[in-house]
Amino acid sequence: MKFTCTNCGKPLKTTEQAYFCMPVPPRGFTELQAWLKLNNAKPYCLNCLQIVQSRKNNTN
Ligand SMILES: [Zn+2]
Repeated sequence: MKFTCTNCGKPLKTTEQAYFCMPVPPRGFTELQAWLKLNNAKPYCLNCLQIVQSRKNNTN
């Protein structure tokens, strides 16, 4: 399963830290992979996470 950053499209390496914007899985993290697909979870690299957060702060 490969991930790319939702904002900048940068490929996320397997050991790289990333953030996923998704609902918390109801059964914990045991079915996380299926849950990610089901909810079309959006991964962000660290740089873009900061951008997304600052955007949210600006709109509030
Ligand atoms: Zn990014």
